[in-house]
Amino acid sequence: MIRLTDIVKRFGDLEVLRRVNVSVREGSVTALIGPSGSGKSTLLRCVNLLEFPEAGELVLGEETVRFTGRPPERETIRRVRRQTGMVFQNFQLFPHRTALGNVMESLVVVLKWPEAQARARALELLEKVGLAHKADAFPAQLSGGQQQRVAIARALASSPRVLLCDEPTSALDPELALEVVEVLAQLAREGSTMMIATHDLRLAASVAHEAVLLEAGEVVESAPARELFTNPKHERTRRFISTLG
Ligand code: ATP
Ligand code: MG
Repeated sequence: MIRLTDIVKRFGDLEVLRRVNVSVREGSVTALIGPSGSGKSTLLRCVNLLEFPEAGELVLGEETVRFTGRPPERETIRRVRRQTGMVFQNFQLFPHRTALGNVMESLVVVLKWPEAQARARALELLEKVGLAHKADAFPAQLSGGQQQRVAIARALASSPRVLLCDEPTSALDPELALEVVEVLAQLAREGSTMMIATHDLRLAASVAHEAVLLEAGEVVESAPARELFTNPKHERTRRFISTLG
């Protein structure tokens, strides 16, 4: 279970998350939708402690972090980061490592796995995202969709409790985006727990079980994805969804 309770995050005077509550069941996928600047990325970054909220509580499996305005303990940050994997809009692969090298990196460097074991695990993950044949290619030799699939494999390497995806398809042409949607849909079917911030209705509707609409740092509506997309309770949700492609 991932549970964010009454999360408050400020940047200076700007309150960008205002007592946000979101829960994600183990094995389920939650889409975060909402206008630009509504706080989707910030909320994801609070889950892996790239941002420290001013107040509220994060439960990530066995770990409970209460935010008090002071940074959490370093050990806590380390434990939380190890339980999360993150996928970014712009892939952020290491440019002078191969696809295989990118996926192996955290296993070898952070988790100190033996090289052969890390290589086997990385190949297995590249296989899962349909890129075993590109193991030796460098990022510049891959399409955007392929780079994003490598990034997904990399984020999964250490078997995180939750995969956090921030606009995973928004830098891609529709056709390449579809490859990424299909990989995420497959992971969802296999029971991966994910939080996905997105403007991509196709992604949200085909992968997410639950959807949350954020606006100006507040949850407007939170519901099973199908319900939220086809029969929203709130007029604001209806209006927002009609703007999505
Ligand atoms: P988008 O759909 O454009 O990605 P978002 O919903 O992800 O938007 P956030 O990136 O979470 O929105 O931003 C929420 C608010 O916080 C915005 O007003 C943004 O300008 C502000 N913000 C985000 N990061 C910082 C920062 N490091 N310093 C100051 N303000 C920030
Ligand atoms: Mg964002």
